[in-house]
Amino acid sequence: MTNAEMKETNNPDYKMEFATDVSKLLDIVANALYSNRDIFLRELISNAADACDRLRYEAINNSKLTESSKPFHIRLQPTNDGNILNISDNGIGMNEEELIENLGTIARSGTAAILEQMKNAGAEKDINLIGQFGVGFYSSFMVSNQVNVISRKAGDNQTWHWSSDGKTGYDLREASTEEAQKLCCGHGTYIQLHLKPDATDYLLEDKLKQIVLAYSDHIEVPIYLTPKDAYIKTAEEKEAEERGEELSINAACALWTRPKNEISEEQYKEFYHHIGHVFDDPISTIHWRAEGKIEYTGLLFIPSLRPWDLYDPERKSSLRLYVKKVFITDDLDTLLYPWLRFVRGVIDSQDLPLNISREMLQNNPVVHKIRNGITKKVLSELAKLADKDEAAFLSTWHQFGAVIKEGLYDALEHRTEIFKICRFFTTNDPEKPTSLQDYVGRMKDGQEHIYYMSGENADSLRNSPQLEGFKSRGIEVLLMTDTVDEFWLQQVSDFEGKKFKSVTKGQIDLSQFDSKEAKQDSDAQEQEENEQEATDLSALLGFLATELKDQVAQVRPSKRLTESPVCLVADEKGTDMHMEKVLRIQQQYEPGVKRILEINPDHKLIKKLAGMAMKSTNNEILKDSAALLMDQALIIQGEPVPNSSEFAKCLSRFMEKGLIG
Ligand code: ADP
Ligand code: MG
Repeated sequence: MTNAEMKETNNPDYKMEFATDVSKLLDIVANALYSNRDIFLRELISNAADACDRLRYEAINNSKLTESSKPFHIRLQPTNDGNILNISDNGIGMNEEELIENLGTIARSGTAAILEQMKNAGAEKDINLIGQFGVGFYSSFMVSNQVNVISRKAGDNQTWHWSSDGKTGYDLREASTEEAQKLCCGHGTYIQLHLKPDATDYLLEDKLKQIVLAYSDHIEVPIYLTPKDAYIKTAEEKEAEERGEELSINAACALWTRPKNEISEEQYKEFYHHIGHVFDDPISTIHWRAEGKIEYTGLLFIPSLRPWDLYDPERKSSLRLYVKKVFITDDLDTLLYPWLRFVRGVIDSQDLPLNISREMLQNNPVVHKIRNGITKKVLSELAKLADKDEAAFLSTWHQFGAVIKEGLYDALEHRTEIFKICRFFTTNDPEKPTSLQDYVGRMKDGQEHIYYMSGENADSLRNSPQLEGFKSRGIEVLLMTDTVDEFWLQQVSDFEGKKFKSVTKGQIDLSQFDSKEAKQDSDAQEQEENEQEATDLSALLGFLATELKDQVAQVRPSKRLTESPVCLVADEKGTDMHMEKVLRIQQQYEPGVKRILEINPDHKLIKKLAGMAMKSTNNEILKDSAALLMDQALIIQGEPVPNSSEFAKCLSRFMEKGLIG
């Protein structure tokens, strides 16, 4: 019977198979014998805390849900009886569908992606990776050979019992009265871990305390430990007991509300792992309190690794919004600009009303102000990092620069600050990218433009013929290699008054940058050859223009070439070369606009052809040359020649002539 059929029969007690992904994951988990297994506790506590957060939010508008409940808490309860560790919470709980959806499939597409990554890295057996990534609920099977989940959704009247040995599937049925009574408040989740024989040290109170301290101290919900009978209480615990209180084993205080100097780097890091569901270390932690017209606390992290779904259009905002310490949503996309979507963290507002609908939040002016505050903080933090630790900054830029640059057209008011942190590779240094400020500082006397060339990668751009004239004159050119560059460059005309100019577009005259000697030399030479040469070229230009009229709009002498005979450029008013390619790939563009073919008047080959054209243009060699020059220009551009067999034939004819005569 398939899962669907099982459900159809409405049998209250049924066996289900895990989705394929889950089985794969469980396989990896089960084999991770020597990994850092402690993290299972972090994962289960994190889920329990999330469940409390969610119910707290639901209860704002429906106080009945928590009417007869105790304050939110999580409880750990080791028992020697059958080596069972119980972990329970009085959070929102799960109904039947949610149990199937959440614990029978990989609900988080992130986990599936992690699986892929691990597989690609050949890391299935690499134990530590699992610890780093965290595989959520399923990590409980690292330490258990059987897991039971008793859960009841707040507001429902049915309790469910889910159980599995973590191999092929799970059983789901309605819980017995006795089982349901394990839930202390009539809602929430009670998880029983039947520990594997080699994992019974997770029954030791001290071990549990130590893990909670290491990974879950920052959880806002108190975590209690019900010790086994044999446990000897500390003096502190005894005193509390006499007062009729129970001490939590974590600090149980929202981390962001604590003063910075009382928070260790480790605690920040663990908090980042918890809220981000990620396991890299943040490159920057920004913790501040905004006071004045609007008040809020921000605790933000800049990750060191690119989230797997950075370019997924469905990607949700990764900031959690709290109002006066109550979790509201992690799905408010107006809280963070999309071009900062890699930032993780918490914003806790003092000004927003608690019972505001998510829709109203979307357009709330306070939210917009907070977004501005966040943006300024993040950009200035990145600028500081660039000063303080250049290597760390550059690696961050490498991860997120392409996304941040979307802000250049998306958020005018932050453009100046974004420009401060932008880095670009240039023709000067193959290793290290430069800031625009530094580029401008190195501009030649009289240079008015910031020159750039765009394409797919810096290394191949460096060898482009269009750059020859710049290189020979020592003029630095920025190499733009992110697709987004084409888009912001359409919107942003200048940096501090210096206009951006593409070296593959329109006319470019660099003669003003020739050194004096070079100028004198070439002036003298020009005088000598001037008359003859001008006429020489015009015949060839005319011939090429007719011969290639289907492929190019114009053929003209070039001022940007020094070594190559030809190159293609875009018309001043047309679409730039690389942009055209980008658009073509995205199928938004019919290549109707033709480019311009530039020929190098100083190149031997061109001179020779010009001489031939003078005599007669009715000449097979000239015809073949025209075709080959054009194809050559395309090939350098990384583009296919329109007719490859014609190209090959043409080339053979030339080789024959060269070799055989
Ligand atoms: P994640 O927490 O990253 O979503 P998990 O595998 O840890 O992934 O959990 C899967 C889902 O199961 C959670 O998103 C949540 O919806 C549900 N869940 C797990 N534990 C609990 C719990 N104690 N209370 C309520 N829901 C839970
Ligand atoms: Mg989880």
